Amino acid sequence: MPTLTLHGARERLSQGESSESLVSKALDAAKSSTNGAFNTLDESRSLDRARELDKARKDGKSLGPLAGIPIAIKDNICTEGLRTTCGSKILDGFKPPYSATAVLRLESAGAILIGKTAMDEFGMGSTSESNAFGVVRNPADPTRTPGGSSGGSAVSVAEGIVPVALGSDTGGSIRLPASFCGVVGLKPTYGRVSRYGLIAYASSLDQIGPFASNVSDAAEILSLIAGADDRDNTSARLDVPDFTSALDQGVVGLRVGIPAEYWGEGLDPQVKAALEDGVRRLTDAGAIVVPVSLPSTKYAVSAYYIIAMAEASSNLSRFDGVRYTGRTKDAKSLLDMYSRTRSELFGQEVQRRILLGTFVLSSGYYDAYYAKAQRIRELIRREFQDAFRHCDLLAAPTAPTTAWKLGEKLEDPLAMYLSDIDTIAVNLAGLPGLVVPVSPVGGLPVGLQLIAPAFQESTLIRAGRALEKAGD
Ligand code: GLN
Repeated sequence: MPTLTLHGARERLSQGESSESLVSKALDAAKSSTNGAFNTLDESRSLDRARELDKARKDGKSLGPLAGIPIAIKDNICTEGLRTTCGSKILDGFKPPYSATAVLRLESAGAILIGKTAMDEFGMGSTSESNAFGVVRNPADPTRTPGGSSGGSAVSVAEGIVPVALGSDTGGSIRLPASFCGVVGLKPTYGRVSRYGLIAYASSLDQIGPFASNVSDAAEILSLIAGADDRDNTSARLDVPDFTSALDQGVVGLRVGIPAEYWGEGLDPQVKAALEDGVRRLTDAGAIVVPVSLPSTKYAVSAYYIIAMAEASSNLSRFDGVRYTGRTKDAKSLLDMYSRTRSELFGQEVQRRILLGTFVLSSGYYDAYYAKAQRIRELIRREFQDAFRHCDLLAAPTAPTTAWKLGEKLEDPLAMYLSDIDTIAVNLAGLPGLVVPVSPVGGLPVGLQLIAPAFQESTLIRAGRALEKAGD
């Protein structure tokens, strides 16, 4: 598969290729692809912007680090004036009046946004199949899922349409598609990147992060989008290091924890072998393996789905047919309009989650479900803290298998939820996670997941780069 890197794009620009040409090639590649990465392309604006940058370059103006480089953005991240649907009919045609902070930061570095990528409706899914605007396919095998929910962003990078794309990760939505599509995916620490302009699914878990074809590009994008934002009071008031300076620090003496619970039952033996080979690359480069235990991992799926659905039921109450775009046609009363709009325009999975989320928050059930899930969340957070007393980072699978066939788990929500087993505890604990490709299994990509203590993304980047280097 063709890959496009930030370095490669810059080289082409410095050798005289125009940004207009770079952007129009990206648009052509997006249009001719049959894998469905995009819900919307912003052709005329992106080409206009490319021409402006070409002129600025010619005039010798000083330009940002991403000047003239095409990028893609997940369809749940607001982009001013550009259709933003969350993969849902209820937001079809919605054009946000403002852009997300992360988008503004990339644009002010000169990046040119070519379009919005396909996703599971409101981020609820692991396959991108519930995108209302078309099927998304895995470039390594188009009969299989690219993973989700940020499937379109992963595909746009895997196909070499753009060098980098933004996704969001609530329970694995950056890391799972990165693993299934063979690209790098980075879920930052909760609070590292502003969520302003990210349409909320589960606010205590959602984080924006990059997809890239290599660790260096992911580190560079993180450095640009990270940092405090007055518009998001959960964004951390912490200095942002230059994450690229961690790239070549190597892993000599770095302690890599192997959490037993992630490497046992259910893990496909061939996937396990590929992942172990990845860990071996780290130890060959000087890292030390330390066995650790995270005993409450087995409760993570249940706790996550209670908390995520509870938050979703509240966040999605704003889509009622009054504001935004979607509204049913022939309502008989206001109440009828609310309920018909929501029944007609939300997909099945979204409705299921709103119902279950409302249920677990209702009086009489709140303590039995929601409050209990919050206690498990705290337990999981503490177990990670304890594990990090013995190691600097953790290495784990991203998923127990490679990408499965489209449709395979669509009718079985529980099987779908269980496929998130390796990614969701990280969100419950608010930690950063990085997925780096290792050797494929049967022609399908596999990614090793590295997990670090909060705000230690530099450790991930350091180890991720060492892993990548050893594989080159
Ligand atoms: N698959 C998980 C869910 O459906 C995670 C999705 C995400 O990270 N947005 O909730």
